[in-house]
Amino acid sequence: MARPKRAKYIIVTGGVLSSLGKGLTAAALGALLKARGLKVSMQKLDPYLNLDPGTMNPHQHGEVYVTNDGAETDLDLGHYERFLDVPMTRKSSFTAGRIYSQVLAKERRGEYLGGTVQVIPHVTDEVKAAILSMSEDDLDVVLVEVGGTVGDIESLPFLEAVRQLKFDLGRSHCLFIHLSYLPFLSTSGELKSKPTQHSVKELRSIGIHPDIIICRGPMTLTPESRAKIALFCDVPADAVFSAVDVGNIYELPEKLYEEGLERKVSKLLNLGGQEPDIAPWQALVAKQAKRSKKVPIAIVGKYGELMDSYKSLKEALGHGGLPYEAEVEFNYFNAEEVRPDNVAKLLKSAYGVLVPGGFGIRGIDGMIAAIHYARTQEKPFLGICLGLQCAVIEFARAVAGLPYANSEEFKEKGRDNVIFRMTGWYDPNTGLRAIRDPSDDLGGSMRLGSYPCRLTPGTKARAAYGVDLIHERHRHRYEFNPRYLKTLTSCGLVVSGQGPEDPLENPAMPRPKLVEIIELADHPWFVGCQFHPEFKSRPMNPHPLFKAFVGAAIKQNAKKS
Ligand code: GLN
Repeated sequence: MARPKRAKYIIVTGGVLSSLGKGLTAAALGALLKARGLKVSMQKLDPYLNLDPGTMNPHQHGEVYVTNDGAETDLDLGHYERFLDVPMTRKSSFTAGRIYSQVLAKERRGEYLGGTVQVIPHVTDEVKAAILSMSEDDLDVVLVEVGGTVGDIESLPFLEAVRQLKFDLGRSHCLFIHLSYLPFLSTSGELKSKPTQHSVKELRSIGIHPDIIICRGPMTLTPESRAKIALFCDVPADAVFSAVDVGNIYELPEKLYEEGLERKVSKLLNLGGQEPDIAPWQALVAKQAKRSKKVPIAIVGKYGELMDSYKSLKEALGHGGLPYEAEVEFNYFNAEEVRPDNVAKLLKSAYGVLVPGGFGIRGIDGMIAAIHYARTQEKPFLGICLGLQCAVIEFARAVAGLPYANSEEFKEKGRDNVIFRMTGWYDPNTGLRAIRDPSDDLGGSMRLGSYPCRLTPGTKARAAYGVDLIHERHRHRYEFNPRYLKTLTSCGLVVSGQGPEDPLENPAMPRPKLVEIIELADHPWFVGCQFHPEFKSRPMNPHPLFKAFVGAAIKQNAKKS
């Protein structure tokens, strides 16, 4: 077998303040390098101590992005996938917590042979091994985003590790990009470079000398400010770039291309490749500019205080409108404020209703009220994960004559838990058993990652996808309870997608065919899915369910008005 290529690494750090769009800038650069014909992937290093963001409240850290192989990761990985259209994996996201836990596990196994375990070299070696593990995938180039801001105590071990990495790999194989902030002072009418100077000074004090500086700010650098940064930060003027605020993130690849960023990077790392074709990005931006109608969609959720909680969802809805030259309006409603007596008033003007994923009982009644409204008023509806579960509960209560229908998540010993937890579950009558072991801890007790789903012929879901077998990403503990399959389907609920039977391990005790998608036949478009389709939507390839949902919303509204 041929040896994998030796990948080259681009390390991206951030200075001055957080939320500068480091992930987006890195992803857009990755897209340009991919457009040069290079094999590119990305990695995020997060300095916090959680093993992964899976247990974090979305209000603090935004959405948890899930990869095909079931890693719960930072939302920046969503940007990477949307810009590169390359699937990320468990290797693409490391937190300090994960690094430390690997080090501590090795210590317990005696792998350090009685030595004193220290940040340098043990933690830094572990970080470097994590970064270098990306090379196994035969890549030309890997972009590594170091989370946090230079100067934070927390990110020091990561920065020390990447400093060493450059030394280990050599200059020709490793490049540092520092993204900084250039505030504009209206009183003096100037872009101020001092914060950038200080953050580069900080970086250099730990031995990292940036090769390229990207200045985020409200306007393009003037030749004077560029020269000043070059002089004070000790980089050539042609290695100082502007990243001007953009209204639309998909303009970034073109903007960075115009700046010549990817050409400079390619030259410094001798990456080769052809002149990138940025026409698809230009076409995408042109398509967005052409959007002539608005499609208001009501999102009835529970994490609206931080809109980053719905990052991929928002993107996917946006993508879903593009084929119709429509701009989707993301109208958020706090489920806790939605009640049977105000739901009609709140959701009346929406063309469609979407209930997204979520955890815990807070807001469930509001979601069910919204679903009831969408079902009975023929508003197109998409339920995602918790949204599907609430749709099944609403249907069971209102249509199937099961007033006590509930989810085990909200009522542990409920009379009719149409949504239930498979953990520890075994039905002696059918021989069906749970997928997971009950001993799993909170971080591992979910069905995570990509699972196959076979679509039922003749359904709306099958029509949307246009294929029989799909793979979608999951993140949940609870499932449709197969014990209620007959009762609910006999009342008109349609199962439009099911997991294929799984003959693994013990064919005498097969796992149940999990219900993955439900819909209603006598409704314009009412679909619930147990997975998260938003993770797989791409700007140039909108997800079939979002496209179909937005299309149905437009059509139904036209019919009614
Ligand atoms: N709370 C539900 C579960 O754990 C739904 C999760 C979700 O919406 N991602 O099954």
